[in-house]
Amino acid sequence: MKEVKIHDKIFVEHLSREVVQARVAGLGPEIAANYGGQPPLVLSVLNGAFIFTADLMRTLGMDAEVAFIRVSSYGGGMTSSGKVRQLLGLDIPVAGRKVLIVEDIVDTGHTVHWLRQELSAQGAAEVKVAALLFKKEAFQHDQEPEFTGFVIPNEFVVGYGLDYNQLGRGLDAIYKLKG
Ligand code: IMP
Repeated sequence: MKEVKIHDKIFVEHLSREVVQARVAGLGPEIAANYGGQPPLVLSVLNGAFIFTADLMRTLGMDAEVAFIRVSSYGGGMTSSGKVRQLLGLDIPVAGRKVLIVEDIVDTGHTVHWLRQELSAQGAAEVKVAALLFKKEAFQHDQEPEFTGFVIPNEFVVGYGLDYNQLGRGLDAIYKLKG
């Protein structure tokens, strides 16, 4: 089993590069079919979703507009604070538009819940969520992501955009904390 050390912790491979790539290759057409040829405005949540977004944009099979936004993050720890501060970087009006939020991971769901409310308040015609990873056991809201790459156990993961204290994002597989 492949292992990596990041800061003080050891992580073991959980989803290989091949498995992740195959799922993203399937997810793009699945999402595109849902939009029936009319691309949504893709809102990629930085920092973690940048790699997933880059790959997903190339498997969507349609030319969608993409913008990068930022909300409060974990702050370096390993548990969710549940506090979301502010939406930053959204310089395109979303009023009347169908929006697809692209997230690396949905954990408690606080971030996407808040984002759905915020974008709806700004007049978005529809808000859907595509999450590469979904920690279903940790989820505390009603509305699950419309598109999910993998449901994973409630364990801390890194790689493919996800970090542990800002490192590990460039790993091409998903690794989980060694128990
Ligand atoms: P939520 O608001 O609890 O759903 O958390 C969403 C955010 O928490 C994600 O966008 C990540 O930045 C971060 N996060 C949650 N779980 C993990 C993890 O296992 N590894 C790295 N970051 C995580």
